[in-house]
Amino acid sequence: MTTTSASGRLRPTEIRHLHEQGAVRITWSDGHVGEYEYAYLRGWCPCAVCQGHGGQRTFLSFPRAQLAGIQAVGNYAVSLSWQDGHDTGIYSYPYLRQLCPCPQCADKERKAES
Ligand SMILES: [Zn+2]
Ligand SMILES: [Zn+2]
Repeated sequence: MTTTSASGRLRPTEIRHLHEQGAVRITWSDGHVGEYEYAYLRGWCPCAVCQGHGGQRTFLSFPRAQLAGIQAVGNYAVSLSWQDGHDTGIYSYPYLRQLCPCPQCADKERKAES
């Protein structure tokens, strides 16, 4: 285990799989909490199979996505596996935080863009 430049960066302190809601709740080291629905997470899968090798990420529609498992990858990301067998998506912590669907973060995004 090493603590290099990664320390001090935002990271999840808890990742909870909410089976009944079909969502994943992530609590961040700054106390922020976001709930990510399966279809949302699946649609933003960052892997090359889903996104190709272009620069722009696009949202893919998987309305019936079912999460099968969550696995930590080193200390910088999680890998999500889906019930359709897809398991190549590695979601880095900064990427996950960026995806946070809560109104607070969506608001921040809008402000940054304007
Ligand atoms: Zn993928
Ligand atoms: Zn948020």
